[in-house]
Amino acid sequence: MKNKILISVIIVLSLVLTALLLFFSFKIVNGYTKINGIFSKSINISNEKAFVTKYAIYGTHLNIEGSFNIANNENSSFKLVMINENSDEINIPIFTNIQKNLLEFYTSKTINQGIYLEGLQNSNFLFYLKETDNVSGLSKYHGLVNKSKFGDLEYYTITKHNSNSKIDIGFNNNTLYLNSKKSILPDNYYDIVIDQGHGGKSTGAISHGYTESLITYEYGIKLKESLEKLGLKVLITRDDINETVGDYNENGRAVIPNLVKAKYCLSIHINSSPINSKASGVEIYCPNHADITFGKALADNIIEIAGTNTSPNNVGRYSRWSLCSDF
Ligand SMILES: [Zn+2]
Repeated sequence: MKNKILISVIIVLSLVLTALLLFFSFKIVNGYTKINGIFSKSINISNEKAFVTKYAIYGTHLNIEGSFNIANNENSSFKLVMINENSDEINIPIFTNIQKNLLEFYTSKTINQGIYLEGLQNSNFLFYLKETDNVSGLSKYHGLVNKSKFGDLEYYTITKHNSNSKIDIGFNNNTLYLNSKKSILPDNYYDIVIDQGHGGKSTGAISHGYTESLITYEYGIKLKESLEKLGLKVLITRDDINETVGDYNENGRAVIPNLVKAKYCLSIHINSSPINSKASGVEIYCPNHADITFGKALADNIIEIAGTNTSPNNVGRYSRWSLCSDF
């Protein structure tokens, strides 16, 4: 009798257990979206896709531009989000523009702003354009499709305590992904490139017995040594004081920083002014469309430490920022 009761209890328990398992497996299938080994949280992934029209890394930042057809989504608001392996959803601030039925979005028009790659945790991230219905409050997530001419990107974080992270960015699993993992900086990759202006056939300015190309060579080596003491991996563009370096050839000074994946490139020049022989002081040139905070800080520090001033070549302090053309 006891055995019979035990058997029926076991049978009932098994049935309950089976039902529970079925229930939960159903829940798991519906509650999570397993994408190539990455568990994203319970999200409603839409069949409608958003497009990435441009994406690039400049310095330490990733920038993304894209668009989405909102013909059927007039009462919605949009956000760009990235979701990591722990299902944390990170909001990426975007600027938006609506042209007819097309929502255009971008992380920044300033090339060295956007998603700060140095501040990311090591994880797998998936990007989505998150659409929230303004009335119901319900959200759905649109995967990002590559409509740009760009391929996969690779980034190594700046060396800190002999350690780096490698970040791979590309398209997979119907959206844009970013994968950050601990890695060692390869031998041919660097944190900073210092370009010693001119060299060899290009002497640069010659004045009062000084030659620009000789001063920039020595200065570059000293700067390299100081930065290496801080644990950074630094490459100079001239190994020899008399070496002539091209601009856009295979080992040109404009090519090297890209080849070695440098996050910063400083080009040193000791200029003379053809129109004002008494001109002196500091000039900092930053690329067009760049955030100039770093350039300003650099100028301020040099002025303070060296007890000098900004160059009168500037129309006003910090007012003339353009692409450096003094190569
Ligand atoms: Zn120069």
